[in-house]
Amino acid sequence: MENFDYGIIGGGPAGYTVGMMLARQGKTVVLFEKDKMGGTCLNKGCIPTKSFLHASDVYSQMKNMSSYGIYADNITFDFSKIIDNKNQTVEKIRKSLELAVKNSGVKIIHAEACVKDKNTVIAKDEEYSVKNIILATGSKPKEIKGLEFDGEFILSSDDILNLEELPKSILIVGSGAIGVEWARILSNFGVEVTLTEMAEHLIPLADIEVSKRIERIFKQKKIKFFLNDSIEKIEGQNITLKSQNTITAEKILVAAGRIPVCPTCECESVLGDACGEIQLAHYAIHQAKAKALGIPFNKNLVPSVIYGEPEIAWVGLREQDTDETYKKSVLPITALGKAWCDNCTDGFIKLITKDDKIYGAHIVSKEASSLIHILLTAIQNNVKVSDIQKMCFAHPTYAEGVFDLLISL
Ligand SMILES: Cc1cc2nc3c(=O)[nH]c(=O)nc-3n(C[C@H](O)[C@H](O)[C@H](O)COP(=O)(O)OP(=O)(O)OC[C@H]3O[C@@H](n4cnc5c(N)ncnc54)[C@H](O)[C@@H]3O)c2cc1C
Repeated sequence: MENFDYGIIGGGPAGYTVGMMLARQGKTVVLFEKDKMGGTCLNKGCIPTKSFLHASDVYSQMKNMSSYGIYADNITFDFSKIIDNKNQTVEKIRKSLELAVKNSGVKIIHAEACVKDKNTVIAKDEEYSVKNIILATGSKPKEIKGLEFDGEFILSSDDILNLEELPKSILIVGSGAIGVEWARILSNFGVEVTLTEMAEHLIPLADIEVSKRIERIFKQKKIKFFLNDSIEKIEGQNITLKSQNTITAEKILVAAGRIPVCPTCECESVLGDACGEIQLAHYAIHQAKAKALGIPFNKNLVPSVIYGEPEIAWVGLREQDTDETYKKSVLPITALGKAWCDNCTDGFIKLITKDDKIYGAHIVSKEASSLIHILLTAIQNNVKVSDIQKMCFAHPTYAEGVFDLLISL
């Protein structure tokens, strides 16, 4: 029987990060992955969706370049090539990931693992003796009663990646990050998209003004949505909502959350989606870092990002979390020269401040996914508004919007 300091079950962001970091410290590590290295993030989540999103955004932009004097008539796309490109991107990343994991000294076992006892893991009928077990087994799409996945009509976020052709119409259940990103991808490609959301607003976890702005943008883009609503009845492709609105859709995508995959067993720790805490790849990665290197992170300041045009990003307190002692300030993106050059003027930067300190940041804008980190750095490190006012921001950038907003406080 082989002996290791650590046995890690799951080769997603949590598992491979903690594995590599422990191995680099001289620990002996064995990592078990039953499917593909990279986990949900690389194979079914973050990366494939962003590859599709990029293709669909470029396609959509190309159709709207005439104001720049660029005329691209009869633009078409080949969905099978878009899928090939996505697959190649995922494979390239997976190859370099596997190499990096192996080079760090982690032994990878491509097999389903189960825990026999707190010091023994079994995979492919072999026993591995380990001093510590870390579970990084991830999560899976949540099914809703009456909307069980069949892979044909009622799809999970895994199933939708297997489509070889785009449907003409789709109903998306749930308007969190996964629902909104798929709504954007499919709408850009010309699919008739309808969303249903049980909450009062789209993206229920976002600041209220962000939700309302996205609702406005979706209306402009002809993405239909129903709030405070859910499916009551399905007859063939005819769907009746609780509101009695009816929709005809070729497919239904259920994007109503994910449930942890976490075998009950004795183990040293559980990391990533399997914990059932914040189900984001960067949360998994930073939990792994905290475990392996003892470098903690502030779990109340985990940035959220929803991709597409425009990006949506936020961190810290939302307007609905605050009282009148907090000040809210909003800079429309139209104030920025760069936004006009890019023809991306719909959006805003919103800050929640109090006593010379920033408590929350909410951005709807191109580059929001990067911009949010400036504000995260300020919030987490108690950087004063008056200190940021002394900084020099480059022009023309989206980042100077942060300065413009703070100098006006
Ligand atoms: C459509 C979609 C888009 C997303 N986009 C983003 C995004 O843009 N940004 C972001 O931060 N997050 C995003 N996420 C979430 C992100 O993918 C997850 O938070 C992240 O993958 C969690 O990492 P993990 O290591 O905990 O689990 P996972 O990535 O799920 O990895 C777990 C691994 O464990 C393996 N495993 C499970 N049981 C066993 C076993 N018994 N033996 C061996 N192996 C086993 C699984 O095969 C899997 O590979 C997205 C998710 C989806 C579905």
